[in-house]
Amino acid sequence: MSKLLNKLKYKRDSVTLEELIFLLSTNKFDKKIFEIADEVREKYVGNEVHIRAIIEFSNFCKMDCLYCGLRRQNKNIKRYRMNPEEILKRVRLIAEKNIKTVVLQSGEDPYYNTEIIENLIIEIKKMNLAVTLSIGERNFEEYKIWKNAGADRYLMRHETADPNLYKKLHPSDTFENRKSHLLKLKELGYEIGGGCMVGLPGQGPYELAKDLIFLREIDSDMIGIGPFIPNPETPLRKEKGGNLNTTLKMIALSRILIPTANIPATTAMGSIHPFGRQIALKCGANVIMPNLTPNPYRPNYTLYPNKICLFERDTACINCVKGMITNLGREIGKSFGFRIKNLQTNEV
Ligand code: SAH
Ligand code: SF4
Repeated sequence: MSKLLNKLKYKRDSVTLEELIFLLSTNKFDKKIFEIADEVREKYVGNEVHIRAIIEFSNFCKMDCLYCGLRRQNKNIKRYRMNPEEILKRVRLIAEKNIKTVVLQSGEDPYYNTEIIENLIIEIKKMNLAVTLSIGERNFEEYKIWKNAGADRYLMRHETADPNLYKKLHPSDTFENRKSHLLKLKELGYEIGGGCMVGLPGQGPYELAKDLIFLREIDSDMIGIGPFIPNPETPLRKEKGGNLNTTLKMIALSRILIPTANIPATTAMGSIHPFGRQIALKCGANVIMPNLTPNPYRPNYTLYPNKICLFERDTACINCVKGMITNLGREIGKSFGFRIKNLQTNEV
């Protein structure tokens, strides 16, 4: 076994699918995996934790992902759209608070056409912020226009790298198609954010190991991993959902396999455990995403139940995450927090 742990430390590129399946099938080596991930994180991306302020600007969605509360078929949700002025007002506030990245997230909502998004990007870039889009699958021409307008990053989790499971969860989409979007975004010069949920029905060590191999294969610049949390308003309401330990292990292993990636301690981690995000920051994560969606909209962006921060006041989440970072003895990131890629060595 020490041989495999050594391999994690010194030969990450040669870690195989079978070895990952093994590590995901037992809890015996978890403590060691978490320690290695924390060491790798410190060595490759340092002690800074980058803050990305997220604005969830629309909860309309034309998709029907089986797990998600924003899915089109959910009639039990109050839908909202923020107009561009409202969004920009919020971005201004974020810039004033000295945060360097804004994440614009929504359901797949064609109401925001190519031009609306383009203009938002142009205006935000004038405020000297990095712009991350997280608005689902759009056409390749739009990705290009938005890149030219100044967009920097795109979050598009691959959700699961098992094509059969992907198909079950997304009746109108395929894993191959999802992959093609990620590769296109990368080719256009975006930093890309793949990632998955953990604890989906039908997902075991084999499927999770494939997620890790996929993230390494596409060299994902950012990696969003969180537990699947069953939503009572979806067909998956009766499923079990993901647990803290397995999700942490997925975060830790992705840090080990892709050492310079930016990896958030996700909101879903904080939603299944009171210290979920703090623990994730100690097991490989180096990013945190405070919720800056304004009221009255914020409580309506219900991807899953018991989401944290829904009733925090306005910008309170910024101070909360700053306190979290300093309490952990880490530093608050001051730069834009682009991926550091210059370290090439394959050793911890
Ligand atoms: N529409 C965009 C962005 C919003 S969804 C998109 O799909 O990319 C953002 C993420 O929320 C998804 O990638 C998914 O991984 C996560 N999510 C959705 N429903 C969830 C649930 N029930 N539990 C945990 N995460 C969920
Ligand atoms: Fe829409 Fe994204 Fe939810 Fe799928 S995961 S239903 S695309 S908001």
